[in-house]
Amino acid sequence: MTADIQPTYPLTKAQVDEIASLHEADTSELEGQLKNLSETCQSNCASGFAKCANHQNEMRKLYQDAYTAASAGRWTSYRPTEYTQDLKRMFDAQATIDKINGRVRREKTQHIKDAQCTFGPSDHPTVKKAKIRAAELRGTGTSPADIDSYIIEEEQKLLSTLTPEQQEAQAEYNKSKSEAEKYSYLRTSACTPQPTDTPRDAELRQKWTKLFDNATPYLEILPIMEKDIADSKSNAQVLENRLADLRNAQAANNKAKAAKEESKRKQARDAIRRCCSEGCGNVCELHGPNADLGCERCFKLKEEGGLQDYSWFCSPECAKANAGSHNARFHSS
Ligand SMILES: [Zn+2]
Ligand SMILES: [Zn+2]
Ligand SMILES: [Zn+2]
Repeated sequence: MTADIQPTYPLTKAQVDEIASLHEADTSELEGQLKNLSETCQSNCASGFAKCANHQNEMRKLYQDAYTAASAGRWTSYRPTEYTQDLKRMFDAQATIDKINGRVRREKTQHIKDAQCTFGPSDHPTVKKAKIRAAELRGTGTSPADIDSYIIEEEQKLLSTLTPEQQEAQAEYNKSKSEAEKYSYLRTSACTPQPTDTPRDAELRQKWTKLFDNATPYLEILPIMEKDIADSKSNAQVLENRLADLRNAQAANNKAKAAKEESKRKQARDAIRRCCSEGCGNVCELHGPNADLGCERCFKLKEEGGLQDYSWFCSPECAKANAGSHNARFHSS
């Protein structure tokens, strides 16, 4: 299954090295073949190499073989199939070698851009920022080599801030040479449960595991993972907001409840201010001429703070009518 994995950017360090060494070998091989061909022509043909139809055709054949050869590990293996089809079409249509070389250069430029700027699976935000900056630099005419140095510098800066475990993981990834190794590394880093996982994280890892099981190209998995992570962050935010709302509602509710209880207590306090005259039961006035109307001795005790049960009366009449029984009951000692 892993054999079908399409080569993807970004490249690991090992892949960059492999591309560079294959490219160097291919280029020098082609140059050698071209040199031999032109020498053979010069010593055998009268017309001169540039005008010798025979050897010009052989030269085209050399270019065609070199440009459209099976390309495992070469930079061309990372390019879309349209590119190779395009080249075949140009060779078939007898396009000039200059034109064909121009097409190759354009694709190579795009390859360098993709290699420098494509986000990786475990790219730190700092690396992503450097890659965005690298893409911007490309528009300013900065040379690819300078952009490379810039990216390497940023990566080195970041590397020094990583924990030993993170550095080890990064080194492991950099070592992966084949797409299968890289894919398996990406799978491990995306799907291995972490102690800090929330239940939602665990669900997401299961979802991503299925994608890897189906050998979905990593470039398709990456945006899905990024969206899932962003969604779950915004879900967490929504949840957080909802909890805050709930807490606010709860607080408002508690406040209303407290106010209600206070008002109940007040009502209860007011309710005991009923006239103590037997058979009367009127509510005593809280303000006005008949407020605090009651037994003078109770009143005095109340003022001194020594009285719990004060006998209220609603009117002077009630107070007078109850004076005897009240005194007998409360002030007889
Ligand atoms: Zn010739
Ligand atoms: Zn009294
Ligand atoms: Zn009364």
